[in-house]
Amino acid sequence: MVSTIQSLLVLAPLGQRMDNFGVNTRLFLDLSYEELAQEVASLGEPSFRAQQIWEWAWKHLVSDFSAMTNLRRSLREELSHRFSLIPFEVVARECDEDGTEKILARLGDGATVEAVFIREGPRRTVCVSTQVGCPVGCAFCATGQMGFVRNLSAGEIAGQVLYFARALKAQGERVSHVVVMGMGEPFLNYAATRKALLILNDAHGFDLGARRITVSTIGVVPRILEFAAEGHQFNLAVSLHAPYDSLRAKLVPLAKKWPIAQVLSAAEAYSLATGRRVTFEYVLLRGVNDERRHARALAALLRGKLVHVNLIPFNPVPGLPFQPPDSKSIELFRQELLAQGLDATVRRSRGVRIQAGCGQLRTRMSRGSPTS
Ligand code: SF4
Repeated sequence: MVSTIQSLLVLAPLGQRMDNFGVNTRLFLDLSYEELAQEVASLGEPSFRAQQIWEWAWKHLVSDFSAMTNLRRSLREELSHRFSLIPFEVVARECDEDGTEKILARLGDGATVEAVFIREGPRRTVCVSTQVGCPVGCAFCATGQMGFVRNLSAGEIAGQVLYFARALKAQGERVSHVVVMGMGEPFLNYAATRKALLILNDAHGFDLGARRITVSTIGVVPRILEFAAEGHQFNLAVSLHAPYDSLRAKLVPLAKKWPIAQVLSAAEAYSLATGRRVTFEYVLLRGVNDERRHARALAALLRGKLVHVNLIPFNPVPGLPFQPPDSKSIELFRQELLAQGLDATVRRSRGVRIQAGCGQLRTRMSRGSPTS
């Protein structure tokens, strides 16, 4: 398996060009439509230019202003002078036989984050990161061991989707789903995450339906309530991982701030406000949270609510003291939930060869060993 991974690892330079990348230019993808309209006005251009430029960037997915052929040349040059359409440089890429692809992206300041593309049936899903590192510090997560470096901007978040969308366009395909489940806790970078989602959802641009976008949080209660109040149709996933506060505090340290009861109440508020079913994610760790008593306690918490339980067999991380349960134990856990009246599925493991759990490629690259 290791040699397969080695053969699949490709080092930069890859894919998109780096024109103007990080050199005295702003990231165009950080602009909302309203901010673009202001930029266009400041250039003395008529307002309809904003719509033209927006469509080139987010509908036609061009990566160079020179391709915006219905703009006069001097305007294209001025835009190139001010902005970059390239969100990052791809410094490593791994592909699995199951169609999963992971990239390590180097941002303008040199920080690196991962994004994952998952091809499954008709679905073309991109999993994006929202922070460099993560302050939550989950005990079972490679990213959680890195600590927190910084938040990503809206353009750096949406740009991960755009990167894969540009590649798919060449094959006549498009991104069908986005999951905000990569590095970082999106609701600890709420403003940029929200802005990125609205850019991707914009019907005049990228036009990805809100119901095709899922945000996963460890349960940042104030932001769940804020998200609910906005009334959008985005999907919400809450990572519970344990049915007891004491165990959860060990697995998800920052979650001590928000006890399970508060998290459940906020998730219910989201369901009520949006009519959307909330997904509860539960990573299964052998001998830690995978026993029948855990399943029963989880069912007791969630029974009667508009929820779905997504069981995630742990994807082993080198150096961390956890293992996934065997497949029989996983099925017994699921059956217990079903018997208790819950809707529960097991997430199919994707990208195992490339260890597609978040933070693992970055960790290996920073150790200087792509296959350790
Ligand atoms: S699992 Fe998510 S929230 Fe927890 S440390 Fe990893 S990236 Fe952060």
